[in-house]
Amino acid sequence: MTAPAHVHPETNAEPLLSLEEARARMLEGLEPLPAEEVTLDEALGRVLAESLASRLTLPPWDNSAMDGFAVRAADVAGAASETPVSLQVTGEAAAGRVADGRVEPGTAMRILTGAPVPEGADAVVPVEQTDAAPGVAELPTRVAILEPVATGAHIREAGGDLRAGEPLLTAGTMLSPATIAAAASGGYGTLSVHRRPRLAVLSTGDELVAPGEPLGPAQIPDSNSVGLVALARASGAEARSIGVAKDSLDDVIEHLAAAIGWADIVIASGGVSVGAHDVVKDAFALLGRVDLWRVAVQPGKPVAFGRASRPTGEGEVLLFGLPGNPVSSQVTFELFVRPVLRRLAGHPDLIGREIVRARLAQPAHKAPNRRAFLRVRLVEEGSGWRAELAGGQESHMLSALARADGLAVVPEDVDGLPAGAEVEVIRLR
Ligand code: AMP
Ligand code: MG
Repeated sequence: MTAPAHVHPETNAEPLLSLEEARARMLEGLEPLPAEEVTLDEALGRVLAESLASRLTLPPWDNSAMDGFAVRAADVAGAASETPVSLQVTGEAAAGRVADGRVEPGTAMRILTGAPVPEGADAVVPVEQTDAAPGVAELPTRVAILEPVATGAHIREAGGDLRAGEPLLTAGTMLSPATIAAAASGGYGTLSVHRRPRLAVLSTGDELVAPGEPLGPAQIPDSNSVGLVALARASGAEARSIGVAKDSLDDVIEHLAAAIGWADIVIASGGVSVGAHDVVKDAFALLGRVDLWRVAVQPGKPVAFGRASRPTGEGEVLLFGLPGNPVSSQVTFELFVRPVLRRLAGHPDLIGREIVRARLAQPAHKAPNRRAFLRVRLVEEGSGWRAELAGGQESHMLSALARADGLAVVPEDVDGLPAGAEVEVIRLR
């Protein structure tokens, strides 16, 4: 297959797109993926597709917050350690069953945490405030109460947590351990969540070998495939690597075409710049179209984006061409792919990162007219943060990215910033 002449004129004269404009074009027309039902066991990290009301009143009935004795508070109003009140013990209320009988004046029932409060009782005396030995299985015939209790003491009231029909969780919530547990106690066994975006990662480059393999002359490990797949999974996608393509249009097209049937998003890393062997944009143009190329960011300027129709005719697959330099590939994923993924996954907040203000510890330099994203480490300083450069800022320097916990943003209109300048830092973890 040969590339059509001038699919996209590769002139350096065109002004670069701003980050916002590029993002807006990438997000254009995108809706969250359809909902599917999952069990609570599968729900971690998924995004709720609908708001939920509690199906149950919680707790469903008055129950004991302590191990002790269910009593009538009036019976023990005069209790003290020197003048204990002796009550007849008529039975036991244990978790998981309703006690037989009532607590009549002058009597008590032993009660365990979580057991329904028997009729007639209006308070629970903790076992520590009685003469009963804690942890003894045998039921005593009488118990001496050593302290008075207020009406309602140690009783967890029905509906004290939630009432049936009250809002429990809102659509767009990313399911966490706590929200999954809340859904379970609200009466749900399955949840309607957005389908996870499916993302395929292709690395391109004749120099790449699988990580851990011995290197021949002029070879390097393919770090982008694993790095981008991991980033995609950490951002909520179902992601897989589709291997490494040679720097040949045919090979890149063959790999991409195979992924287009499965994926919602296909990423190609490398081969997207102006080098003689950079064929990714031509491949996008032949499989679909190139919507944009080159954005005013540093690192990551050569980022490309396009779309291709699915062979089934169902909607379009999004194509990202990320620069091959490992730091550029991860930073452009963060800036462009992650918001798109989050839109598809149903997150209302497309960035999903905390942004803090910090003071730069060292001076920083950058290219003019591009927004720079410096790899920094955040260190607490008084009530705020200091951002220290995490290492060299060139786009092949993975060691600095690996040390960084944030990206410090330096605006387009400056060539650098002095030490002490205030910056915004996008926290990566
Ligand atoms: P490219 O964008 O293809 O011009 O590549 C830019 C730089 O990134 C070159 O030094 C490549 O060797 C390097 N590179 C490209 N792809 C990868 C990859 N998958 N893993 C590690 N380095 C890469
Ligand atoms: Mg390359």
